[in-house]
Amino acid sequence: MKYRLMDILACPMCKSFPLKLVVLEERIIEKPPFIRQCELYCALHGGYVRDFTKTDCERCYGLEIASGYVECGGCGRWYPVVEEIPRMLPDEMRDRKLDKSFVEKWGQKLPQRILESIRNGE
Ligand SMILES: [Zn+2]
Ligand SMILES: [Zn+2]
Repeated sequence: MKYRLMDILACPMCKSFPLKLVVLEERIIEKPPFIRQCELYCALHGGYVRDFTKTDCERCYGLEIASGYVECGGCGRWYPVVEEIPRMLPDEMRDRKLDKSFVEKWGQKLPQRILESIRNGE
């Protein structure tokens, strides 16, 4: 996924926007064939576009996030980014097995809150 996706995504449960993206693994696309600017919120720059005089959209659009997670400041939920896809699903559709394997893979790098959410979900 691109950082730019965070310009569009809201929490599927509480509809909060913007969400916080934490990147664990990313790759650089040398020459993105085209560039889409973040219009409202840029997760690479970590803020609203209107608050920046200059944004590096080529870099923003040229990074592909392979692994990470998305945190919602509204309800405290988190969503994994696995194989470049953010799994933004409401509670009843959440893939608990995927959550678990994500936490097993990244354990050390995840905040305590996320580790506990898995333990409590058992
Ligand atoms: Zn951006
Ligand atoms: Zn939320």
